Amino acid sequence: MRLHDFIPSSRANGPGLRAVLWLQGCSRRCPGCCNPATHPPQGGISMGVADLWRGLKPLSGALEGLTLSGGEPLEQLQGLLALLQGVRLESRLSVILFTGWTFEEVGALPQADSLLSCVDLLIAGPYDPRRHLASRLRGSSNQTLHFLTDRYCAADLERVPEAEVLITPAGEVLCTGVDGARPAAGLAPHPGEGGAP
Ligand code: SF4
Repeated sequence: MRLHDFIPSSRANGPGLRAVLWLQGCSRRCPGCCNPATHPPQGGISMGVADLWRGLKPLSGALEGLTLSGGEPLEQLQGLLALLQGVRLESRLSVILFTGWTFEEVGALPQADSLLSCVDLLIAGPYDPRRHLASRLRGSSNQTLHFLTDRYCAADLERVPEAEVLITPAGEVLCTGVDGARPAAGLAPHPGEGGAP
């Protein structure tokens, strides 16, 4: 898989404490996309699914869930599906998936049932700057929320902050969350910012 970025703990990318993985590559090129560095398919780093899950699994006991964003995760469907099936089989992590595809486009995938069975909350649709929202995990109001299991409901999103500022062990300051592309004054946005693709 091509990975753009990863943070091991966030509270602004879904309910509870979550790891966040941004996948590299998106061919949609939406105007106003907050994360254009994720677009080139050959950017980021390459890692096999087994190695990725081997790195993630030891963190899972301290986390509520895993959030996947991009870039466009569905452009790496086979790897994504293999990763999420491992998460489902071998952990209790909840899964939140952001995609720029509409729910109808996701449903037309041949593997739609397998994919959606591994996801608790799907946030679907491309970011549209004319309908900027930056609230409750939606970057814009055209994006749709799909609660696919009983793990979460709309009320759970009310306690998710729109943005957070993190300081990495290396001292790097980064902003993330659905409004993470709008950093606090004086802070540079992190290349992996933005909860909504
Ligand atoms: S908003 Fe999402 S789907 Fe659109 S270009 Fe950006 S990453 Fe791709």
